[in-house]
Amino acid sequence: MVEKIKKTDAEWKALLNPEQFHVARKKGTERAFTGALLDNHEQGSYLCACCELELFSSDHKFDSGSGWPSFFKPAHPEHVTEEKDHGFGMTRTEVLCERCEAHLGHVFEDGPRPTGLRYCINSASLQFKKS
Ligand code: FE
Repeated sequence: MVEKIKKTDAEWKALLNPEQFHVARKKGTERAFTGALLDNHEQGSYLCACCELELFSSDHKFDSGSGWPSFFKPAHPEHVTEEKDHGFGMTRTEVLCERCEAHLGHVFEDGPRPTGLRYCINSASLQFKKS
């Protein structure tokens, strides 16, 4: 069980830069190929930009060509929540931080082995911690 973190928009605004706030708290999407962590190939952990929960690992990162950091699985399945998203006339599966409900991105079923999944995640919703 992950204990929830709840903050008001004003509290999140004080902690995050405007891009992080827009993407993580308001379900925004950074422009493809602009995120700081897209081409990061260092070994380490990808933490929630909002609450620092460990979400993804460099061990599961791959170059999807999509323009967003991509992972074939979460570091800890219990740290992410998946919800159906019917926005923009599409049905997609949204990925959120289990602890603070930050919007991370979406998961698609066109990923590589062994899971066949592609977690398409905004750099703005992540912070990288080198191991
Ligand atoms: Fe979080």
